[in-house]
Amino acid sequence: MENTIWHTLYNRAKAVQNDRTISPFMEAGAVGAAVLTAEGNIYTGVCIDTASGMGMCAERNAMANMLTNGEDKISKVVAVMPDGSSGTPCGVCREFMMQLNQDSRNIEILLSLDPLKTVRLGDMMPDWWGEKYLQAECCTIKELAEDLAGEVVYDIYKLCMYKPTFEKYLARISNRKQHKNFTVYGCYLHNELIGIAGICPYSQEVEITDIAVKKDMQKKGVGRKIIEYLTENYQLPLLAETDDDAVGFYRKCGFKITEVTTEKNNELCRRYLCRRSNK
Ligand SMILES: [Zn+2]
Repeated sequence: MENTIWHTLYNRAKAVQNDRTISPFMEAGAVGAAVLTAEGNIYTGVCIDTASGMGMCAERNAMANMLTNGEDKISKVVAVMPDGSSGTPCGVCREFMMQLNQDSRNIEILLSLDPLKTVRLGDMMPDWWGEKYLQAECCTIKELAEDLAGEVVYDIYKLCMYKPTFEKYLARISNRKQHKNFTVYGCYLHNELIGIAGICPYSQEVEITDIAVKKDMQKKGVGRKIIEYLTENYQLPLLAETDDDAVGFYRKCGFKITEVTTEKNNELCRRYLCRRSNK
């Protein structure tokens, strides 16, 4: 069966192969490619070579065809070279596939039809730069399972506190709990707590009172994922008051900075009121 689908893909790629000169500047069709999607459809494409570097590989043309038809998950890829052998995708095509989604590393690529030899895309792309950004995609967000007054939660929570101590932390959460709807969500990556968000929901909006992401998981889209979760879960605008350190994060997540106040504590400090509509 496995053998059959590889033959089918090979034949579909070969069928579109049509090496020709289009103009003094352009040639097309020397290489043909076929991609099999997770949904079981096959899309094909040929290579286009042009002057001024506008060309595109057969694999990427097949993928463009797939995207045009509303699909984006690939299971297998075959490229047929001018001599009839199967070709491995170039660096740009490998990168293109990796950027599609987190399952791309499992894409199988034909190396040889007879004897049948294939390779997993992930094995061709060790230490891929984008891997860390995909981890956020694998996170799950749910109400905090851990003890709020425990060290595990404090270790993350303290990252959004000014000069944190455990005593200050306990005082803060006991203060937060005076709001009867105060809820803390945890963001989990493979069951490990990597982020938290404390919120107070009101009838017309949800106030984010605290949000923090584990140091080594910062700047990987985890915070944004939490914001999107809250928006989806509550279907209400989100509010947050913040400082210079975090205002950039809220801005990137689509919050509008509606108010800037300057306060005098011991020193001058600026506070920002951030609001994100649920639309
Ligand atoms: Zn390529």
